[in-house]
Amino acid sequence: MQTTLVAIFALASAFFAWRYFDTLRGVRELTEMVRHSANPKPGDMQSGTGSRSLSKLSRSLCDLVAESTLTRDLEASRRQFLETLLDQIEDALMIVDEASEVRFSNCAARLLFPSEMSQIGRPLIEVCFDHRIAETVTLARTLRSKTQEEFTRRMRAPSDGRIERTYLVEAEPLSSRGIGNGAWVLIRDVTLQVETERVRQDFVANASHELRTPLSIISGYVEMMDDGMDKATLRRCVPTMRKHTQRLGRIVEDMLTISKLESHEGNLNREPFDLAACLRDTLDHLHPIVEQQHARIHLDLPVEAGMIGDRFYWDQVFFNLIENALKQNSEPGLNVTVRLVAESGRYRIDIIDDGVGIPSADLPHIFKRFYRVQKDHSQTIKGTGLGLSIVKRAVEAHYGTIKVRSRPGTETVFTIEVPQPPSPKNLETGTASSGEENAGQSST
Ligand code: ADP
Repeated sequence: MQTTLVAIFALASAFFAWRYFDTLRGVRELTEMVRHSANPKPGDMQSGTGSRSLSKLSRSLCDLVAESTLTRDLEASRRQFLETLLDQIEDALMIVDEASEVRFSNCAARLLFPSEMSQIGRPLIEVCFDHRIAETVTLARTLRSKTQEEFTRRMRAPSDGRIERTYLVEAEPLSSRGIGNGAWVLIRDVTLQVETERVRQDFVANASHELRTPLSIISGYVEMMDDGMDKATLRRCVPTMRKHTQRLGRIVEDMLTISKLESHEGNLNREPFDLAACLRDTLDHLHPIVEQQHARIHLDLPVEAGMIGDRFYWDQVFFNLIENALKQNSEPGLNVTVRLVAESGRYRIDIIDDGVGIPSADLPHIFKRFYRVQKDHSQTIKGTGLGLSIVKRAVEAHYGTIKVRSRPGTETVFTIEVPQPPSPKNLETGTASSGEENAGQSST
C-alpha cells in the first residue's frame, strides 16, 4: 500500500515536473520567437511551441502579433502613399522636428537642395544653406502660427552661370502628436507670377502714359476752343487733333490685338492661305511709302507658299516688319529684301534692310510692349511701340519663332521660322522659288 502511494507520488511529481519544464520551455521559445522574428507568422509560432499547455496562450499571442503586424503594414503603406503623393507636388516640402532637424523631405525639396548626403536627420540650415528659410520656421514656432516670407535667390544656371529666382516660403508648427514641437516648411517658386505681375504693372503704367499724351493734347485744344478760337487757329488745330485721335485709336487697336493674342490661342481663325501672296499684298499696301521714300524692294519669294493660319495676323506681322524698316529709315535709297524659303518642313522668312539698325543694347528688349529704341520717337515717328510685340505673339501663336540681328548702318535682319502645314502640295510649292529678285516690286 505504502509502496503504491510512493509510486503514485513519484509519478505525479514527475508529471508536474515535466509540465513545469515543458511550460517553461514553451514560454522561452515564444519569447525568443516574438523577440527575434521581425514578422512572425502564426503557424511558425504554433509549431515552434512544443507545449500543448501553451497552445491557448500561443494562439492569443498569434492573434495579437498578427493584428499588430497588420496595423504596422497598414501604417507603412499609408505612409508610403502619403510620401508618393507629396513627391508629386511641385513645391518643396520639409518636416522638421523640435531640434529643427529634417524628418521628411519630398522630391522637389531634394531637387532644390541637392546633396550627396541624405537630408533626413540633418539640421534644416545645413540642408538649405539659407538662413531666411530657417528663420521663417523659427518665427512660425515663436508665433505658433503660419508665417510666410518672399525672397529672391541667385541660382546656378547651366547657360550663363547665374539666374535669379523668387521663392515664397511658408512655415507652420505641427499640431499633430509624433514630431514634438515640429513644423512643416513649404518653398514655392513664384518667379513666373512675380514676373507676370511686374509685366502687368509695367503695361498699365506704359499704356496710361501712351494714352495720356495724345489725350492731354486733344483736351488742351478742346479747352482753347471752349474759350473761343478764331477760324485760322481752328484750321491749324483740327489736323493736330485728328492726328492724335488717330494715334489714340491705333494704340487701343494694338492693345486689343495683343490682348486677343494673349487671351487664347483658340481665337485664331486657322484657314489655308498663301503666305507668299500675303507678303506681296503687304508690299502693295506699302507701295505709296516705298515710292515716297525712294526705297528699293528686293523680292525672293516662291510662286506659292501654302500655309494654315490666321491671315489677319500674318498681314499684321509682315506689315509691321516692313513698315518698321521704312519708318525708321526715311532717307532715300533704303534697300529692303523680303525672302521666303521652305526648308526641312519649315518656312523661313527674312526681312532685311540696310538702314540705321538697332543698337545691340536694345536688341534684347525690342519685342517688349511699348519699347522704343529712341524714347522720344512717339512725337516724330508714327508708332505705338506695340508692333513687334504683336509680331512676336502672332508668330508664336502659329508655333513659330522670330529672331533679330542687326549691324547698325549695315544690315538688320528679322527672321521668322514657322512650321509648314503637313501637305505634299506645300512642300512642292514652297520649294519652287520663282527667283523674283529685284523684280516687280522694285521701286526707287
Ligand atoms: P513702333 O510701333 O514704335 O514701331 P515696334 O514694336 O514695331 O514699335 O518697334 C520697336 C522699336 O524697334 C522701334 O521703335 C524701333 O526703334 C525699333 N525697330 C524695329 N524695327 C526696326 C528696323 N528695321 N530698323 C531700326 N529700328 C527698328
